Amino acid sequence: MGGISLFILGGTILSIAGKASPADSAALLQQAGIEPAGPVSVTRWRNVGSQNLLMADLIALAAEIGRQAASGTKGFIVIQGTDTMEETGFLLSLLVPADIPLVLTGAMRTADAPGADGPGNLNDSLCAVRALSGLALGPVICMNGELHAVRHVRKVDAGRIGAFASPGIGPLGTVVTGRVRLLQRPLPQPGPYPLPDPANLPRVALVTVGLDSDPLLIAAFASPDWQGLVVEGVGSGHVPQALAAPLIQFAKQSPVILVSRCGGGDTDADGTYQGEGTAAHLIANGLIDGGPLQGRKARLLLTILLARTTVPSAIRAALVPWAGLGLLTD
Ligand code: ASP
Repeated sequence: MGGISLFILGGTILSIAGKASPADSAALLQQAGIEPAGPVSVTRWRNVGSQNLLMADLIALAAEIGRQAASGTKGFIVIQGTDTMEETGFLLSLLVPADIPLVLTGAMRTADAPGADGPGNLNDSLCAVRALSGLALGPVICMNGELHAVRHVRKVDAGRIGAFASPGIGPLGTVVTGRVRLLQRPLPQPGPYPLPDPANLPRVALVTVGLDSDPLLIAAFASPDWQGLVVEGVGSGHVPQALAAPLIQFAKQSPVILVSRCGGGDTDADGTYQGEGTAAHLIANGLIDGGPLQGRKARLLLTILLARTTVPSAIRAALVPWAGLGLLTD
């Protein structure tokens, strides 16, 4: 299979410790076994730490991937910083058809570090993007010899090479000495959605609730400046009693999605736990059940949905299949 397109966005994989200027991308490509005139076309798309990537960058990238795929490019690799990779990957999964092979990768060690992991990760990604053809898995993250589904993966360690994990799910597959092995398949997810206008993206806040969180936390977002809110409740989505009323009030004017702050597992929409501030109470009083969605992913999803419509019933309806993903009923 020929025709692979590689986009460079920046990050540690192209960084030198203690220096602001990037490492030589030609050296990285060579170490990863990518020949200058070979079947991989390289685009230096951005050169930023991933904390500085914008949703607009990813929307533009999704548009470019769509264009290139329509002209016959068979697979895509995105190199970027790892800090926001789980979010950029998920955002791309909302905007790019799942049958386009797309692998995101980066590095935990700088290009000059002993045992730099960038070239190996990039070579693994090249093997993976070829192997994923025809599987329609959606974008995957390839790091440390593992493939992860963007809906489940999280960066769980700030420094270790094995920085990524998919809590409660595990990796989708492995890449070892060029052999790509699929261990499981992610459930197909709703979408893709039409590309939104990057100049008119709604503001959606993400709030993580903790022990004795102050209601002021919610008050900060109960303003027309914010078009939506995602609340990561404790455990299966509960909040301290004092937060229940302000959240329910805010949900009357803007969509509020409730998820768990755990990163894996589900909300208690069925009501095992009852009382003010429990997940069941909040959902019964206007908050939208986010089911197994992780908060940072729910924020991106709500942004994309709100860019299409602000009609509350339409937002609610669009989130039902996300909350119910994989749920079996008798
Ligand atoms: N701070 C870096 C970034 O996300 C870390 C990395 O690339 O791994 O851009």
